[in-house]
Amino acid sequence: MLDLDVRTLFIVSISVTVVLGFLLLFAWYQNREIRALCWWSVSHFVMCAGAGLLGARGYVPDAVSIDLANVMILLSCGIGWGGARLFDDRTVPLSGVMAGAILWLLASQVPGLSESVNARIMLSSVIISIYSIGTGCEIWRGRTVEPLLSRWPLSATQFVHGAVYALRIWLVFAFPVAPGASFFSVAWFSIIALESLLYLIVASFMILAMAKERSELVHKTNAMLDPLTNIPNRRAFLDAAMRRMRQRPRNPEPVTALLFDLDHFKSINDRFGHSVGDEVLRVFTAKAAAEFRSTDIMGRLGGEEFGALLFGASEGTAVATAERIRRALMVATADIGGKSVDATVSVGIAVLPADTVEDVLQLLSRADSALYHAKERGRNRVEVAGRSPQIVPAEAEDPMLVPAAPALRMVSPAKVPPISDWGSEDIIEWAEPQQLRAAGK
Ligand code: GH3
Ligand code: MG
Ligand code: MG
Repeated sequence: MLDLDVRTLFIVSISVTVVLGFLLLFAWYQNREIRALCWWSVSHFVMCAGAGLLGARGYVPDAVSIDLANVMILLSCGIGWGGARLFDDRTVPLSGVMAGAILWLLASQVPGLSESVNARIMLSSVIISIYSIGTGCEIWRGRTVEPLLSRWPLSATQFVHGAVYALRIWLVFAFPVAPGASFFSVAWFSIIALESLLYLIVASFMILAMAKERSELVHKTNAMLDPLTNIPNRRAFLDAAMRRMRQRPRNPEPVTALLFDLDHFKSINDRFGHSVGDEVLRVFTAKAAAEFRSTDIMGRLGGEEFGALLFGASEGTAVATAERIRRALMVATADIGGKSVDATVSVGIAVLPADTVEDVLQLLSRADSALYHAKERGRNRVEVAGRSPQIVPAEAEDPMLVPAAPALRMVSPAKVPPISDWGSEDIIEWAEPQQLRAAGK
């Protein structure tokens, strides 16, 4: 066995745990919305109290140094597990937090167990191991919603700690503690005490790192997401667009830029109020987002203007998509809270063929020219840059969905099939910007 003084390690562990508890409390004070930090801090203090009582064996009654001490240590593990659930906004069942401590109290009533130090060590080891692995699982589960890098080492630390405590069960079999032996005289306690000290230090720092990472992600998200529509703002849209365009030489594919501008939006605000205007913007976002694929990029460029980049889509697909959005907006805003808002949108499209290179801003500028033409030619229509408008016969439209306004029958460049003709393969999936959204809570 290692020549380590268990008593010294024990005192160092308690002191370090108190310091780490205060560090976590301070981190919570700075970042009150992460309540888990407070739970983890309390968990540290309860652990110190329990460990202190355990070390006071011989100086205080056994009921305090054995039962109360173990109950506090197990309760501390339960609070730590609860903190992990709270960190990801999961409910914290009190029964789960208290289960270990209650199990211990019940088991201590069993005569054989209460008298055997080895059985007690085994029971507490099992409970601590389950809590530790459970805490690791809780932290790990949250990675899909909020992929913080620190989740990895923290989960791993919890799993290793759980495994070490599971090993303690074997140690009790291999090197049983002599009945009545002093707490500090068991040789393998030194290894466990050293591991516990290292675990507390690593886990606490990982918790602090994880909380810091979350704060940074929230700030970054707030700077990138439009709060009204919850989609990327102008900066985030342009950043993503430029990043994707830089990858294009490796994988040449056509790119289509779509610029949307809601028509006479000022008048919608004036007639129905700003809140209805906001609702129209949200409805437009939902309808548009439903038409894009997960590989497409969409953003709110400002006010009532939106942009999208479609990768790998042909001109025909882009026009059909824009048409579907244009019609869906009309249908959805025909009745908003009993008001016939009848919002419409003009769309400008610019196509970049697979074998051609162009700057994002230039591509968007061409789409903007097409949008300008759409406005000039009567609004509520789709225009493609470099194309002249073409009249679609009125009978090609779906009378249920498209009111017979003359401007609606004018699309460019080609006839768009009525909605009833679109196959299911045309319904394109849109994946929400999950990473940003998740961190925006
Ligand atoms: P056009 O058809 O030429 O595009 O006319 P328009 O009225 O849509 O364009 P204009 O640029 O004159 O007005 C845009 C309006 O959009 C003015 C502004 O008050 C409104 N707006 C911008 N952002 C928001 C918003 O977040 N919510 C609401 N409700 N209105 C907004
Ligand atoms: Mg505008
Ligand atoms: Mg407008």
